[in-house]
Amino acid sequence: MEDIKFLKQAIKNSRRSLDEGNFPAGAVLVKDGQVIASTVSSPYPSLFHADSKAVTEAFNKIGPLKGATLYIGLESCLMCTGVAYWSGIRRIIYAIPKSKVSGEYYETPIDTSPLFEKFNDKIKFIHIKELEKEAMSVVKEWEEKQK
Ligand SMILES: [Zn+2]
Repeated sequence: MEDIKFLKQAIKNSRRSLDEGNFPAGAVLVKDGQVIASTVSSPYPSLFHADSKAVTEAFNKIGPLKGATLYIGLESCLMCTGVAYWSGIRRIIYAIPKSKVSGEYYETPIDTSPLFEKFNDKIKFIHIKELEKEAMSVVKEWEEKQK
C-alpha cells in the first residue's frame, strides 16, 4: 500500500511538471519509508529527467541508495535506469509502461527490458496497473497542449 501512496505522489509531480510547462514526468525517491527526493522534469531537451534528478538529489543527500525505491509515472528511459542502477537502486515502480506512449519519448522505441534483464545485478521493475489511467491522463493533457 505504501507503493501506491508513493507512486501517487510521483504522479502528482508529473502534474506539477506539466503545470510548470515541462514534460509530464515526476518522481519520488524513498528509502526506509522516507521520501528523500521529490522531483519534476526540466525543460526539454534535458539530461535532467525527473527520475535522474530524484536519484542524483537523493544520492547527494545520503550516498549510495541500496534498498531505496524509485517511483515514476512513466517507465524510466535507458539513461535514468542506468543512473538508478549505479546509485544502488534495485527497485523501480512505475504507472505507465513505455509501450503505452510514443517511442519519441525514449532513446529508442524498442522494448529495452531484455537489456535490463542482462544487467549484472537485476533491478526489479514493478508496473502498478491500477494507477496507469490516472498517470496517463496527465500525459494526454500534455500531448493536447503540444498540438
Ligand atoms: Zn530518463
